Amino acid sequence: MTTAVADSPSTPLLVTEGRVLDVATGTYSGATRVLVEDGRITSVGGEEVRGPEGVEVLDAGGRTVMPGLVDAHVHVTAATADLFAQAEWAPSYVTAHATQILAGMLERGFTSVRDVGGADHGLAAAVEEGLLRGPRLFFGGKALSQTGGHGDGRPPGRSSHVGTPCGAGIGAVVDGPEAFRLAAREQLRTGAHHIKIMLSGGVASPTDRIDSTQSSEAEIRAVVEEATAQNRYVTGHAYTSRSVERALRLGVRCIEHGNLVDDACLELFLQHGAFLVPTLVTYQHLASEGAEHGLPADSVAKVASVLEAGLDTVDRATRAGVDVVLGTDLLGGMHRHQSEEIALRAQVQTPAQVLASATTTAARLLQREGEIGVLAPGAYGDLLVVEGDPLADVTVLARPEETLRAVVKDGRVVHRGG
Ligand SMILES: [Zn+2]
Repeated sequence: MTTAVADSPSTPLLVTEGRVLDVATGTYSGATRVLVEDGRITSVGGEEVRGPEGVEVLDAGGRTVMPGLVDAHVHVTAATADLFAQAEWAPSYVTAHATQILAGMLERGFTSVRDVGGADHGLAAAVEEGLLRGPRLFFGGKALSQTGGHGDGRPPGRSSHVGTPCGAGIGAVVDGPEAFRLAAREQLRTGAHHIKIMLSGGVASPTDRIDSTQSSEAEIRAVVEEATAQNRYVTGHAYTSRSVERALRLGVRCIEHGNLVDDACLELFLQHGAFLVPTLVTYQHLASEGAEHGLPADSVAKVASVLEAGLDTVDRATRAGVDVVLGTDLLGGMHRHQSEEIALRAQVQTPAQVLASATTTAARLLQREGEIGVLAPGAYGDLLVVEGDPLADVTVLARPEETLRAVVKDGRVVHRGG
């Protein structure tokens, strides 16, 4: 793949007059300056940090300077809440929507996102090369589902598959360990950072039950084996203790949602060193405006059963010491609510805990510790200039249109607000 657009050497950037927030310790470090050269941070400190001749200066004016945020559960190609109708759209049309969704995320301060169904290597390359404006994109390709599972959009009366597995949908329907293995290899072949599989029923699928388990043990094992072979990992969509317990035992490293897990199950996360990515904001808005954005009526009815439990699970998981990561899972016109997840978490987590979930802990999940979610030499030059004190009140980050003064990615100012 060529890198024509990104080849032009970037001008070094010196951020001055900042109040540098160290998310690892949950303190202001005393540093005021950050220097980014060739896209990476080379120095963080005081007046002694100076750029080379011709350095671009970004005066933070005494405001908070902090790492760019990570959203670990997004679908950047989800242009509508009716994902199964979208599977019949032209991929080019879906991509046009994705460009808008990606730009919106960047302007909310998310400089890295993990896509857990839909984004592919082409979209990631387009962002990487600067063809599209968006966060750095960690993708898994299509999410793998069994027949009748969370990735199977057919109503009970339809037998033929439309739009899968090669259309513009976010999942692929496969059955049997060998089919799962091949599907995983296909995603890994294209450079997938992780493999997503469906482990229980979900809200947006028409025929499955929330309390079901999905994917057989042999299917899960096959996918874990393939991901592990390539030093990648498996993440799974699951709500209940029954589905999560099984997955963690079989080597799944991360659970998406997890709304209905009990305390004994949270202990298993600790034993296995697994991550939990709750997604609260999507339930809130699927309940209130899902129908208007295309969510079918059967799915709206499923939302209520998981909405209430989600916040309580974040609370219990945090107290238990589980690695909880920020995620949102918004679809279609609801993407604009992305930052509200921060305010929801703040109801049960301290500001430092919320910040860690969107920076340092997220970086460990993404296997990019020291490179994202941190302001330190060697890390990507991804940072935010924020009005207000996120350590005292993290909800300032839930109102980016008011508080975000600048978004920097790869050492370039990509958005100015306020
Ligand atoms: Zn999702």
